[in-house]
Amino acid sequence: MSSYPFRIVFGRGLVEELHAFVHRPYVVVTMADLWPMFADRFDAGLAGVHLVESLEVANLELVSDALPACNAIVGLGGGQAIDVAKFFAWRRRLPLFQVPTAMSVNAPFGHRAGLRVNGIVRYLGWAVPEAVYVDFDIVASAPRRLNRAGIGDVLCYHTAHRDWRLAHEAGRTEPQWPYDEGLVAEAKLRLDGVLAALDDIRAVNEHGIRTLMLAHHWGGATFHDSGWNPRHIEGMEHFFFYNLERLTGRHFIHGQPVGLGCFIGATLQDDQPELVLDALLRAGVDVRPEAMGVNWDDAAEAMRTLASFSRQAGLWYTAIEERPIDDAFVAAIRERIVDAYTGWEGQT
Ligand SMILES: [Zn+2]
Repeated sequence: MSSYPFRIVFGRGLVEELHAFVHRPYVVVTMADLWPMFADRFDAGLAGVHLVESLEVANLELVSDALPACNAIVGLGGGQAIDVAKFFAWRRRLPLFQVPTAMSVNAPFGHRAGLRVNGIVRYLGWAVPEAVYVDFDIVASAPRRLNRAGIGDVLCYHTAHRDWRLAHEAGRTEPQWPYDEGLVAEAKLRLDGVLAALDDIRAVNEHGIRTLMLAHHWGGATFHDSGWNPRHIEGMEHFFFYNLERLTGRHFIHGQPVGLGCFIGATLQDDQPELVLDALLRAGVDVRPEAMGVNWDDAAEAMRTLASFSRQAGLWYTAIEERPIDDAFVAAIRERIVDAYTGWEGQT
């Protein structure tokens, strides 16, 4: 499936070039902490800047309607700015140019924007950018933990595949998503590529950036390209993240709770949890709850309520339907994570 339309361009000095070819006047969507670093690279073609504060659709509709007259949208930032830029481009039917400043998520390559409706994640809209510009120097200057956490959105294929197979074997796949060996094999190719480049990703060097961003390039677009099928790319590890967000009301660096969810999932599935944990440790991703601003009680609650949350939210059939999470399981997860990260120096 090589026909996905997201043109990805790698290079250097890419933001400096934008003013010369983006349709004028243009609006830049970015974050308050990023804008001072980039403000001087735009010129009189800049009609306005939106600094993202909210992902709530109701708020964004108002902001979108109040944007200055413009002929293009530039998204410049991590996942949030990228998603809001998509939303504006969709609502205003404008050409879109995306510049992800970190490798944290696959959002630059997904058609829909990941937003919130009353605090609940919703993927809506349609935006295919003219191009996605990946600037090696900009990505390398982003906080390391943001970049390294980007493996979470690829590592999740491992748990997703087992979930899909379990559903298949139980006769519980959703009618629109029968098990598809070909899709699994395609995803596995990207997963294996990332697993072979963990040291480069941890170092955020050129090879690491290319490998992870090309995996995101595929992963972001395949949801649509496989008929809005998430089965080969997402499973209970994401459900854990959704549930943790719901319970705590916190915002996370996506790959941290998803990464912890991958370890929980692989353990529950009895499918190479140590491979998952080794990848997280080696790539430099800290999945301890305290590293993401919550605590073990929060994580334990998100595990214990995962099955009921999954059913209430109408999510698909995964390993949590087959093996309940009890206190002994939660204790074992905690013990293994605490032990693995004691004395760990991967964050440096
Ligand atoms: Zn994700």
